[in-house]
Amino acid sequence: MTLKGKTAIITGSNSGIGLGIARELAKAGADVVLNSFTDRPEDHQLAADLGAEFGVSARYIKADMSKGDECRALVEQAGKCDILVNNAGIQHVEPIDTFPPATWDRIIAINLSSAFHTTAAALPMMRKAGWGRVINIASAHGLTASPFKSAYVAAKHGVVGLTKVTALETAEEPITCNAICPGYVLTPLVEAQIPDQMKTHNMGRDEVIKKVMLERQPSREFATTEQMGGTAVFLCSDYAAQITGTTISVDGGWTAL
Ligand code: NAD
Repeated sequence: MTLKGKTAIITGSNSGIGLGIARELAKAGADVVLNSFTDRPEDHQLAADLGAEFGVSARYIKADMSKGDECRALVEQAGKCDILVNNAGIQHVEPIDTFPPATWDRIIAINLSSAFHTTAAALPMMRKAGWGRVINIASAHGLTASPFKSAYVAAKHGVVGLTKVTALETAEEPITCNAICPGYVLTPLVEAQIPDQMKTHNMGRDEVIKKVMLERQPSREFATTEQMGGTAVFLCSDYAAQITGTTISVDGGWTAL
């Protein structure tokens, strides 16, 4: 399977799942556009290294996904968008009655509204090219809920809804739109929480991972960023041309419970 000649924009991709997806798409031959809200030399270096490793064109474009005009500008600046991966996301954990309203607005903006804006800007380019893939990174929390994550769960359910609408509006065209719903994925952010959890629960690394962190993930294994990337590559393949408007859970059985 080759994605040679395709350009992929991955939002929020200077770390974690976004970077993992960018790596697998580049490995499959796609030119990639990395993004986050920072504009540090290391962001641009990351893109340069990725391009060199896989022999593709790789650029880093700064854009703040909390701002609609910057979401649209990211796509315009990229100039071409065959594959759009809406991945940027943040989290805040607090009960509804004390949840800060500004944090609610920010999570909805970054985790949900950004996907509306980038999709609106990318669809005309996909139509012009006669091919397109929109891949929204939702979550097991796009299909189920947990307490204290009101904005995140609402935004991720919204992403699943937006996925269905995008699929229906493009159903008669060679464009698909699907959501990947990860369970707990071992990203640097999650890795950094392990020592604290070990201390809090007075447990060893393996025990705290299996009994505390992966309590809701029946496999008791983290999913990996490579698996998210591989799922994205599959959704870009011809095998997936009739898969549209749906969710693919990569969650070790979380949503089967
Ligand atoms: P992460 O913090 O490593 O990555 C988030 C990315 O989004 C980073 O590159 C960050 O720079 C970027 N970002 C944050 N705010 C931004 C903004 N305003 N503008 C542009 N970019 C911004 O976290 P991750 O775990 O890799 O999460 C990536 C996506 O996967 C998120 O949408 C998250 O909700 C989803 N997800 C993660 C898990 C998990 O267990 N890690 C599980 C389910 C879903």
